[in-house]
Amino acid sequence: MSNQMFMNSIELLVVDDAAAIRSSISVLLTEIGYVVRTAADGFEALSAIRMDIPNILLSDLNMPGMSGFELLSVVRLRYPSIQVIAMSGSFSGEEVPSGVTADAFYQKGCSIRSLLRIIDSLGHQKLRPYIHPVPTVPLRIQRNGLDSGGRPYVTIACPECLRSFHETIGGSLTPIREAHCSHCQQTIYYVVVDPVEWEPASSSMIASRDVRKSKSSQTAILR
Ligand SMILES: [Zn+2]
Repeated sequence: MSNQMFMNSIELLVVDDAAAIRSSISVLLTEIGYVVRTAADGFEALSAIRMDIPNILLSDLNMPGMSGFELLSVVRLRYPSIQVIAMSGSFSGEEVPSGVTADAFYQKGCSIRSLLRIIDSLGHQKLRPYIHPVPTVPLRIQRNGLDSGGRPYVTIACPECLRSFHETIGGSLTPIREAHCSHCQQTIYYVVVDPVEWEPASSSMIASRDVRKSKSSQTAILR
């Protein structure tokens, strides 16, 4: 009974692009007593983690969009309290494959019993959720130029999922702008630096700081 109660407090997030695997693992772990949520890829997983931080992340490695390799690195960086199990059918054994940021490895296709043993081996510590903070200071983003439609845009590197995306900056001239990452939907605040052509009076303060900042501003490398 006490063991059952304990498992009820352990939350798992299962990430796999294959719906059948996602649901079969989820059903089994839920029957045993774990609290289980699922996500279909890395970006969906990051959204789910933002809503509620799980104790354990069980993630496939090969997925479209954001792969498990990327997801696990991002999670280790941003949410170091989450214990991470990588799963794959492309590697065998119980060792974490090299280049994979995980605490344990589950070979897909092995029995659910071996998965449970791996979950047990993580030590069942219910760690206090800890989030490595995303900078609260707005990002300084250098203007890129005009997009194919002739509108000014910037390239923003998302501090959450580490992917880059384009954001059109026409219209509002407020110094601090808000964008939503096109990959993981994270809200990002930024200021545009180094205006090249037009310099609205309302942003003159920012513009003067930008002159010094222009060489080192945060221009993202597009992946
Ligand atoms: Zn993102």
